[in-house]
Amino acid sequence: MARNKIEESFADSILRQVYAHPEVLVNYDLLKGIGVLESFEVLVSSFKDLEELQRKAVSIFSAESLDDLYGIIIESILQKFIPTYLLFAVKDDLFSDSPQLSCYKNLKKISSPIQIPSLAPYKSLFEQFPGVIDFEKLEASSEGDGSLGLMGGLNPRLVIPIQGAGELYGFILIGKKLLEEEYTDAEVFFISTLIQYTAVAIQNIINRKWAVTDGKTGLYCFPFFRERLNQEMARSRRHGHKMALVVLDIDHFKQFNDLFGHQTGDGAIVLLANLLQELTRAEDLICRFGGDEFMILLPEADESAALAFGNRLRNRAEEIHIAHEDKKKAGMTVSVGLSVFDPSVEKSVDKLVEEADQALYQSKSAGRNCVSILQKSGLLDRAAGFIKK
Ligand code: GH3
Ligand code: MG
Repeated sequence: MARNKIEESFADSILRQVYAHPEVLVNYDLLKGIGVLESFEVLVSSFKDLEELQRKAVSIFSAESLDDLYGIIIESILQKFIPTYLLFAVKDDLFSDSPQLSCYKNLKKISSPIQIPSLAPYKSLFEQFPGVIDFEKLEASSEGDGSLGLMGGLNPRLVIPIQGAGELYGFILIGKKLLEEEYTDAEVFFISTLIQYTAVAIQNIINRKWAVTDGKTGLYCFPFFRERLNQEMARSRRHGHKMALVVLDIDHFKQFNDLFGHQTGDGAIVLLANLLQELTRAEDLICRFGGDEFMILLPEADESAALAFGNRLRNRAEEIHIAHEDKKKAGMTVSVGLSVFDPSVEKSVDKLVEEADQALYQSKSAGRNCVSILQKSGLLDRAAGFIKK
């Protein structure tokens, strides 16, 4: 097997020393006897671990989702040992205390055999035991601690808290090794360093989420959306297919707020965002442009696909009704504007957005609750594109 660089330079320096001082070979048995050679092996193996951790750090820190992160951690752990199971209980939202659970048994993802509704009961436990915890010892020393109950059901061997900036992001439970041996100090060091990196990676995922998404709806915010729109336009030029931009705005939403209250208005915005998620495919991109205005990018959609989508959306938005305390049901309508990017016609991102906005304005001035589209000519083609309810 190829040796790594650290091993090579280490071996080279030892060999140089031996050549310089051949008399040490006379004492080879002595060196072996007092364990010097074994210590060298341990040292080399620690170097290898550190090198591996350093190499992994880059991919861990740049993981875009918890699943990506778990994939990298599992791959790293497997190079050292095989645990019977791994359970990650981690939150990726600052304003929630309920962790997402991901469990891997024999390296396959399974649904978690336990439920952990909140991280709150574990906070004081992990303040007391901040590092890698030997579960058996923990159980023995904290009899009757309620927070151990749930995790105890899985009989973990190691429990490792994931401590983020000023708060607990979650923890990892690790089952015993498949081959029954105990975890060595070197393995515990390796995994605890990985988990420290993991805390930074989770912080990155949370920061990124806040940088690119809108807190109320979870949809992308405009600066990120605009960047993706730019990329999609470039892809559309390369492949020669059209793509559509949909803009929608809730009708008379100020009035809605006045009638039903701002909180009901907030609920309506979230329901509309959910509807947009439901109506779109994985490759479509949705953005909350601000206030009651949203945008959707439909890659590989032409005028007729965009119109069909716009009308489906307009129809479904009409079905949204929020129960209101005085027994009235709060309903809404939306106005929709569409613009289609044809790669054979040069156009900037801002121009495409401006055209969709112009079409939206047409829908508003034509009485709202309708869909308008801007055709290739740049003029609103009422005969072909304007569809009023
Ligand atoms: P139009 O049909 O012309 O769109 O009329 P409109 O009343 O909806 O007017 P406009 O779109 O210009 O105003 C949007 C209003 O939406 C302004 C504000 O009162 C409300 N709004 C914006 N963001 C939120 C929000 O997050 N929650 C709630 N409840 N209301 C919001
Ligand atoms: Mg509006």
